[in-house]
Amino acid sequence: MNQRPLVADRLRQSVAEREAASLRRQLRTVTAQQGNWIWVDGQRLLNFASNDYLGLAQAPELAAAMQQAIQTWGSGATAAHLLGGHREPHAALERYAAQWLGYPRALLFSTGYMANLAVLDTCLQSHDLCVQDRLNHACLLDGARLAGAHLKRYRHQDLAHAEALLAADPERAAMLVSDAVFSMDGDQVDVRAITAVAERQQALLFLDDAHGFGVLGREGRGTVAAAGLGVESVPLQMLTLGKAMGSFGALVVGTDALIDALVQLARPFLFTTAMPPAVAAASLAAMQTARAEPWRQETLHRRIDVFRTEVAGLGYTLMASQTAIQPILIGEAGKALQCAAALAERGFYAPAIRYPTVPKGEARLRITLSASHTEAELAALIEALRQLNDQSFMNEPSAAG
Ligand SMILES: *Cc1c(COP(=O)(O)O)cnc(C)c1O
Repeated sequence: MNQRPLVADRLRQSVAEREAASLRRQLRTVTAQQGNWIWVDGQRLLNFASNDYLGLAQAPELAAAMQQAIQTWGSGATAAHLLGGHREPHAALERYAAQWLGYPRALLFSTGYMANLAVLDTCLQSHDLCVQDRLNHACLLDGARLAGAHLKRYRHQDLAHAEALLAADPERAAMLVSDAVFSMDGDQVDVRAITAVAERQQALLFLDDAHGFGVLGREGRGTVAAAGLGVESVPLQMLTLGKAMGSFGALVVGTDALIDALVQLARPFLFTTAMPPAVAAASLAAMQTARAEPWRQETLHRRIDVFRTEVAGLGYTLMASQTAIQPILIGEAGKALQCAAALAERGFYAPAIRYPTVPKGEARLRITLSASHTEAELAALIEALRQLNDQSFMNEPSAAG
């Protein structure tokens, strides 16, 4: 009688399909933590999945800055930025970041996801062209969709393909958008090359440096700075504060005119409560600590070098990454889950990353390294990977998945 499809039925069906393909996700609670150890389902695991690349999330400087700001400002910002919620800790963070990074202006968002939605939805109109790397982070793709722009995706890191897509459509206003460091592969965009494409094609270039900020370049100023470039070449960048900075939120840095346009027009900036001032204070303390303690960045890179040398020697397939993201390519989703479970049995947390986060057939263990990992902790992980390699399921031919 009633032909209307039921939303709840459809959702159950989608979840069942994920389950059948070894793609069901488990939401696990970390019940305790101590240093790099976390407790999950009563099991004590050494965490190799955190984005806290510099070990700042537990640094006393951040906690002290938060506590002090709470004393002054309380727990919440109480309003949106333009309606009295923009407090001195927010402004101080923006000023400091802009000056440090050599950009005219910075604007704070509550998350990187919101910042990317804001930039793309504000800059793009429905008749515009948005050219993006195939492996860009989900929120960059979502931003272009939200704007209703013509979204064209080029083969991963194939800038000739990007240029051809732009050249094929010269009438439309255009943006060229890429992760600066790819979140599931760890490789870096060629900043000079992508800048040249954007200039030749008169496209607005926007780079998302969620994973390069704090990790690459002098003082960890990020992928663009590491290439010796700045606002003249890359007029807009997004930098997250929840990864290497060990805090929460995101900054968009750019020219005065672009940042002013975001303040005026960006809906994820206008219509949301400003983040707690104490969180902004922690982010500022994170930047100051990262600069004052270069050992964090240096230690991270030493750990990366050791990991790559040792794990490649075990015969694993690593990816072209010089960053803290060091995935081990496994292939089939079920096998990646077996690997993650076998590592957990040995006391290590390194989750399997599967479709749709990565393409089908490219499931992987996403191992992330941190300055907080000791040499001994890293050596223990490498030993566990050596043992894992001897397990029978590792050597079975795998189906696509
Ligand atoms: C994590 C991430 C984001 C989102 O940042 P959040 O602050 O976690 O919302 C955006 N882009 C990339 C490439 C990321 O890895």
